[in-house]
Amino acid sequence: MTAAVAQPPVIRSLLDLTFEELQQEFVAFGISPLHVRALWRSLHRKLAGDLTAETDLVPPLQRWLKINLGPANRFSSLLPTQITDIASEDGFTHKFLLRLADGQTIETVVMSYQGRHTACLSTQVGCAMGCVFCATGQMGFVRHLQPGEIVAQVRHAQLALRAKGKAGLRNLVLMGMGEPLHNYDAVMTALEIISDHRGHNIGPSKISISTVGVVPGILRLAEEQRPYNLAVSLHGATEEERSALVPISHRWSLAELMDACHAYFAKTRRRIFFEWTLIAGVNDSPAQSNRLAKLLSGLDAHINLIPLNPTGGYGGAATQMEAAQAFKKVLQVAGFPSTIRQRRGIDVAAGCGQLRAEKHR
Ligand code: SAH
Ligand code: SF4
Repeated sequence: MTAAVAQPPVIRSLLDLTFEELQQEFVAFGISPLHVRALWRSLHRKLAGDLTAETDLVPPLQRWLKINLGPANRFSSLLPTQITDIASEDGFTHKFLLRLADGQTIETVVMSYQGRHTACLSTQVGCAMGCVFCATGQMGFVRHLQPGEIVAQVRHAQLALRAKGKAGLRNLVLMGMGEPLHNYDAVMTALEIISDHRGHNIGPSKISISTVGVVPGILRLAEEQRPYNLAVSLHGATEEERSALVPISHRWSLAELMDACHAYFAKTRRRIFFEWTLIAGVNDSPAQSNRLAKLLSGLDAHINLIPLNPTGGYGGAATQMEAAQAFKKVLQVAGFPSTIRQRRGIDVAAGCGQLRAEKHR
């Protein structure tokens, strides 16, 4: 028997709605699409905190907002509140711990490089996938995020950048807490809102979804021709080595996952990014790199090599730079481009879920 996941009754927020859904909502009140557009701008461009104070909205819209927004009403006006904003020593990484309306906490990270800002978003509170080296996996699954709770992280990051006179976000990665394809519908709605040119306007090609390998989700992305970048977390190139790190591969085997990647590539012709957390003595030998290259043959692949961020619940250590370079070299000889990710912000516990885990202790 599978236990039903208890979702707390979350009151919807206007941030949950796509532009079309927002228009639908107002049709009955005789509010024209033009005026809905002004509301959308307030929500997703101006990033207004209190919509009832937006005096440039037409009076019927203002009346609607006064009646329908509020804790006991149709839509919640609560936004996540910031518990902490911790900057890395080099100042390039900011990690925000945010409290949601029901008291749960999530992390959002903003990374800055040469004046370009990327936000790393959470998609769930906790995660059900249980990867052994991951702080989020170690805390277990709590609940899915609503679309508006994902959009609100972008809003929070944009406001933080704006307060410092910096440019807005250019890129988004869904690599914070949670498994995006386990919360498929909410994630797709959120990305539609965030990429809308009338609001945040972060184009689909600037957005990357990272998955541990939820096979039905990958197939659905291809089927629906979703225009986002796909990153697949592998960490092992044999069934045995992968399932020791990624327990969910007992459910969707490496063979099934690779079939799904080939199907995705056949359908979309899009390059797939693969992530590989480098753990000393576990998955960082040249022989393992060679097996990875064989596994990826026939795909347009780019591999991101991420030296392990140590977490409390796992004893492994990060691969040293020399071994990481050797691993990369084998991939290069086999014709695969790869990048060794700089461990920016390690001093702010930038591994996913680590800040929340620390606060809970
Ligand atoms: N659930 C998705 C996205 C969130 S995790 C996924 O697993 O892909 C984003 C990336 O961070 C994944 O590649 C994951 O393996 C990696 N990661 C998680 N914890 C890590 C750690 N402690 N050190 C290095 N990488 C880690
Ligand atoms: Fe979940 Fe990704 Fe962490 Fe695995 S690595 S436990 S899928 S968040």
